[in-house]
Amino acid sequence: MGMLDDVRALLALQECDRRILALGRDVDKLPQDEARAKSRLAGDQASVAKAHDAIVECELRLKRLELDAGTRRTTIQRLKTQQFETRKNEEYQALGHEITRYEREVDGLETQELEIMEEIDAHRAVMKEAEAALAHTRVLVDQDLAEVVARRSRIEGELAEARNTRTALAAAAPEVLLPLYDRLMKTKDGMAIAPERDGRCGGCHMKLIASSVVAAQSGREVVRCENCGRILFVEE
Ligand SMILES: [Zn+2]
Repeated sequence: MGMLDDVRALLALQECDRRILALGRDVDKLPQDEARAKSRLAGDQASVAKAHDAIVECELRLKRLELDAGTRRTTIQRLKTQQFETRKNEEYQALGHEITRYEREVDGLETQELEIMEEIDAHRAVMKEAEAALAHTRVLVDQDLAEVVARRSRIEGELAEARNTRTALAAAAPEVLLPLYDRLMKTKDGMAIAPERDGRCGGCHMKLIASSVVAAQSGREVVRCENCGRILFVEE
Protein backbone atom coordinates (compact mmCIF):
# COMPACT_ATOMS: atom_id res chain seq x y z
CA MET A 1 0.00 0.00 0.00
CA GLY A 2 1.55 3.30 -1.09
CA MET A 3 1.26 6.68 0.59
CA LEU A 4 -1.49 7.64 -1.81
CA ASP A 5 -3.56 4.67 -0.67
CA ASP A 6 -2.80 5.54 2.95
CA VAL A 7 -4.12 9.08 2.50
CA ARG A 8 -7.12 7.78 0.55
CA ALA A 9 -7.94 5.37 3.40
CA LEU A 10 -7.69 8.23 5.91
CA LEU A 11 -9.84 10.38 3.67
CA ALA A 12 -12.59 7.74 3.67
CA LEU A 13 -12.30 7.51 7.44
CA GLN A 14 -12.54 11.29 7.71
CA GLU A 15 -15.64 11.37 5.54
CA CYS A 16 -17.25 8.84 7.86
CA ASP A 17 -16.09 10.72 10.99
CA ARG A 18 -17.47 13.98 9.64
CA ARG A 19 -20.79 12.27 9.04
CA ILE A 20 -20.77 10.97 12.63
CA LEU A 21 -20.02 14.50 13.88
CA ALA A 22 -22.84 15.98 11.77
CA LEU A 23 -25.30 13.35 13.02
CA GLY A 24 -24.19 14.09 16.59
CA ARG A 25 -24.93 17.78 16.04
CA ASP A 26 -28.37 16.82 14.68
CA VAL A 27 -29.06 14.81 17.86
CA ASP A 28 -27.94 17.78 20.00
CA LYS A 29 -30.47 19.99 18.22
CA LEU A 30 -33.44 17.72 19.02
CA PRO A 31 -34.17 19.08 22.55
CA GLN A 32 -34.30 22.59 21.06
CA ASP A 33 -36.77 21.42 18.40
CA GLU A 34 -38.83 19.85 21.16
CA ALA A 35 -38.80 23.02 23.27
CA ARG A 36 -39.68 25.18 20.26
CA ALA A 37 -42.67 22.96 19.47
CA LYS A 38 -43.90 23.11 23.07
CA SER A 39 -43.46 26.88 23.26
CA ARG A 40 -46.07 27.23 20.52
CA LEU A 41 -48.69 26.30 23.15
CA ALA A 42 -47.76 29.18 25.46
CA GLY A 43 -49.58 31.93 23.53
CA ASP A 44 -52.85 29.99 23.30
CA GLN A 45 -52.61 28.89 26.91
CA ALA A 46 -52.16 32.53 27.96
CA SER A 47 -55.28 33.58 25.96
CA VAL A 48 -57.39 30.89 27.66
CA ALA A 49 -56.07 31.88 31.11
CA LYS A 50 -56.73 35.59 30.43
CA ALA A 51 -60.37 34.97 29.44
CA HIS A 52 -60.83 32.67 32.43
CA ASP A 53 -59.44 35.28 34.84
CA ALA A 54 -61.73 37.94 33.34
CA ILE A 55 -64.77 35.69 33.92
CA VAL A 56 -63.77 35.03 37.54
CA GLU A 57 -63.30 38.75 38.12
CA CYS A 58 -66.73 39.56 36.61
CA GLU A 59 -68.41 36.88 38.72
CA LEU A 60 -66.92 38.42 41.87
CA ARG A 61 -68.24 41.86 40.87
CA LEU A 62 -71.64 40.32 40.14
CA LYS A 63 -71.75 38.66 43.55
CA ARG A 64 -70.94 41.98 45.27
CA LEU A 65 -73.72 43.76 43.33
CA GLU A 66 -76.21 41.02 44.22
CA LEU A 67 -75.27 41.37 47.90
CA ASP A 68 -75.66 45.17 47.72
CA ALA A 69 -79.07 44.84 46.04
CA GLY A 70 -80.12 42.24 48.62
CA THR A 71 -79.21 44.54 51.51
CA ARG A 72 -81.29 47.33 49.94
CA ARG A 73 -84.27 45.04 49.37
CA THR A 74 -84.20 44.11 53.06
CA THR A 75 -84.08 47.79 53.95
CA ILE A 76 -87.02 48.51 51.63
CA GLN A 77 -89.02 45.75 53.35
CA ARG A 78 -88.22 47.26 56.76
CA LEU A 79 -89.18 50.78 55.62
CA LYS A 80 -92.46 49.50 54.15
CA THR A 81 -93.33 47.85 57.48
CA GLN A 82 -92.50 51.09 59.29
CA GLN A 83 -94.60 53.01 56.78
CA PHE A 84 -97.53 50.63 57.29
CA GLU A 85 -97.35 51.08 61.06
CA THR A 86 -97.02 54.88 61.21
CA ARG A 87 -99.95 57.17 61.76
CA LYS A 88 -98.15 60.43 61.04
CA ASN A 89 -98.68 61.63 57.48
CA GLU A 90 -95.34 63.46 57.44
CA GLU A 91 -93.40 60.37 58.52
CA TYR A 92 -95.36 58.27 56.03
CA GLN A 93 -94.24 60.56 53.19
CA ALA A 94 -90.63 60.72 54.39
CA LEU A 95 -90.52 56.92 54.48
CA GLY A 96 -92.06 56.86 50.99
CA HIS A 97 -89.17 59.04 49.70
CA GLU A 98 -86.63 56.75 51.35
CA ILE A 99 -88.27 53.70 49.76
CA THR A 100 -88.21 55.35 46.32
CA ARG A 101 -84.54 56.25 46.75
CA TYR A 102 -83.60 52.67 47.66
CA GLU A 103 -85.71 51.25 44.83
CA ARG A 104 -83.83 53.47 42.36
CA GLU A 105 -80.55 52.22 43.77
CA VAL A 106 -81.72 48.63 43.36
CA ASP A 107 -82.68 49.44 39.73
CA GLY A 108 -79.21 50.87 39.15
CA LEU A 109 -77.57 47.80 40.66
CA GLU A 110 -79.73 45.48 38.55
CA THR A 111 -78.71 47.38 35.40
CA GLN A 112 -75.06 46.91 36.37
CA GLU A 113 -75.71 43.20 36.99
CA LEU A 114 -77.12 42.83 33.46
CA GLU A 115 -74.11 44.64 31.99
CA ILE A 116 -71.73 42.31 33.82
CA MET A 117 -73.67 39.25 32.66
CA GLU A 118 -73.25 40.46 29.08
CA GLU A 119 -69.55 40.98 29.78
CA ILE A 120 -69.32 37.43 31.10
CA ASP A 121 -71.00 36.11 27.93
CA ALA A 122 -68.48 37.99 25.80
CA HIS A 123 -65.55 36.60 27.82
CA ARG A 124 -67.05 33.10 27.56
CA ALA A 125 -67.16 33.43 23.76
CA VAL A 126 -63.52 34.57 23.72
CA MET A 127 -62.54 31.70 25.99
CA LYS A 128 -64.32 29.17 23.79
CA GLU A 129 -62.41 30.45 20.75
CA ALA A 130 -59.13 30.44 22.68
CA GLU A 131 -59.76 26.87 23.80
CA ALA A 132 -60.48 25.80 20.22
CA ALA A 133 -57.26 27.50 19.06
CA LEU A 134 -55.34 25.78 21.85
CA ALA A 135 -56.78 22.38 20.89
CA HIS A 136 -55.81 23.01 17.25
CA THR A 137 -52.28 24.06 18.22
CA ARG A 138 -51.98 21.04 20.49
CA VAL A 139 -52.63 18.77 17.49
CA LEU A 140 -49.90 20.53 15.51
CA VAL A 141 -47.50 20.44 18.46
CA ASP A 142 -48.16 16.74 18.99
CA GLN A 143 -47.37 16.18 15.31
CA ASP A 144 -44.14 18.18 15.68
CA LEU A 145 -43.18 16.21 18.78
CA ALA A 146 -43.90 12.91 17.03
CA GLU A 147 -41.70 14.11 14.17
CA VAL A 148 -38.88 14.86 16.62
CA VAL A 149 -39.19 11.33 18.03
CA ALA A 150 -39.10 9.86 14.50
CA ARG A 151 -36.11 12.04 13.60
CA ARG A 152 -34.26 10.89 16.73
CA SER A 153 -34.75 7.23 15.88
CA ARG A 154 -33.72 7.80 12.25
CA ILE A 155 -30.56 9.70 13.25
CA GLU A 156 -29.68 7.12 15.88
CA GLY A 157 -30.06 4.37 13.27
CA GLU A 158 -27.80 6.25 10.88
CA LEU A 159 -25.29 6.86 13.68
CA ALA A 160 -25.14 3.16 14.54
CA GLU A 161 -24.59 2.36 10.88
CA ALA A 162 -21.89 5.04 10.51
CA ARG A 163 -20.09 3.76 13.63
CA ASN A 164 -20.00 0.25 12.16
CA THR A 165 -18.60 1.66 8.93
CA ARG A 166 -16.06 3.61 10.95
CA THR A 167 -14.79 0.47 12.67
CA ALA A 168 -14.16 -1.12 9.27
CA LEU A 169 -12.55 2.02 7.83
CA ALA A 170 -10.29 2.48 10.87
CA ALA A 171 -9.15 -1.14 10.55
CA ALA A 172 -8.28 -0.53 6.90
CA ALA A 173 -6.46 2.77 7.60
CA PRO A 174 -2.66 2.92 8.11
CA GLU A 175 -2.13 2.21 11.79
CA VAL A 176 0.97 4.35 12.02
CA LEU A 177 -0.91 7.46 10.89
CA LEU A 178 -4.01 6.96 13.05
CA PRO A 179 -2.73 8.74 16.19
CA LEU A 180 -1.82 11.81 14.11
CA TYR A 181 -5.16 11.61 12.31
CA ASP A 182 -7.13 11.38 15.57
CA ARG A 183 -5.21 14.30 17.08
CA LEU A 184 -5.81 16.49 14.01
CA MET A 185 -9.52 15.57 13.92
CA LYS A 186 -9.84 16.82 17.48
CA THR A 187 -7.79 19.99 17.14
CA LYS A 188 -8.51 21.00 13.53
CA ASP A 189 -12.26 21.36 13.55
CA GLY A 190 -13.02 17.84 12.32
CA MET A 191 -10.74 18.09 9.30
CA ALA A 192 -7.45 16.20 9.54
CA ILE A 193 -6.95 15.75 5.81
CA ALA A 194 -7.20 18.86 3.65
CA PRO A 195 -7.17 19.12 -0.14
CA GLU A 196 -4.34 20.96 -1.86
CA ARG A 197 -5.90 23.37 -4.35
CA ASP A 198 -3.97 25.83 -6.54
CA GLY A 199 -1.01 25.65 -4.19
CA ARG A 200 -3.11 26.40 -1.11
CA CYS A 201 -4.15 24.31 1.89
CA GLY A 202 -7.89 23.60 1.77
CA GLY A 203 -8.01 23.60 5.58
CA CYS A 204 -6.43 26.92 6.54
CA HIS A 205 -6.33 28.43 3.01
CA MET A 206 -2.72 29.53 3.39
CA LYS A 207 -0.33 29.35 0.41
CA LEU A 208 1.85 26.25 0.59
CA ILE A 209 5.55 26.31 -0.17
CA ALA A 210 6.33 24.94 -3.63
CA SER A 211 8.22 21.88 -2.39
CA SER A 212 5.22 20.80 -0.29
CA VAL A 213 2.96 21.06 -3.32
CA VAL A 214 5.37 19.01 -5.43
CA ALA A 215 5.75 16.40 -2.67
CA ALA A 216 2.00 16.14 -2.19
CA GLN A 217 1.46 15.78 -5.91
CA SER A 218 4.07 13.03 -6.18
CA GLY A 219 2.05 10.93 -3.73
CA ARG A 220 5.21 9.30 -2.39
CA GLU A 221 5.11 10.69 1.12
CA VAL A 222 2.68 12.08 3.64
CA VAL A 223 2.86 15.85 3.36
CA ARG A 224 1.48 18.21 5.96
CA CYS A 225 0.54 21.86 5.63
CA GLU A 226 3.41 23.83 7.16
CA ASN A 227 0.91 26.32 8.57
CA CYS A 228 -1.89 24.25 10.18
CA GLY A 229 -0.31 20.78 10.19
CA ARG A 230 -3.13 19.06 8.33
CA ILE A 231 -2.29 16.13 6.08
CA LEU A 232 -2.59 17.23 2.47
CA PHE A 233 -4.10 15.30 -0.38
CA VAL A 234 -4.23 16.17 -4.07
CA GLU A 235 -7.61 16.06 -5.71
CA GLU A 236 -7.75 14.17 -8.98
ZN1 LIG B 1 -3.24 24.34 6.31
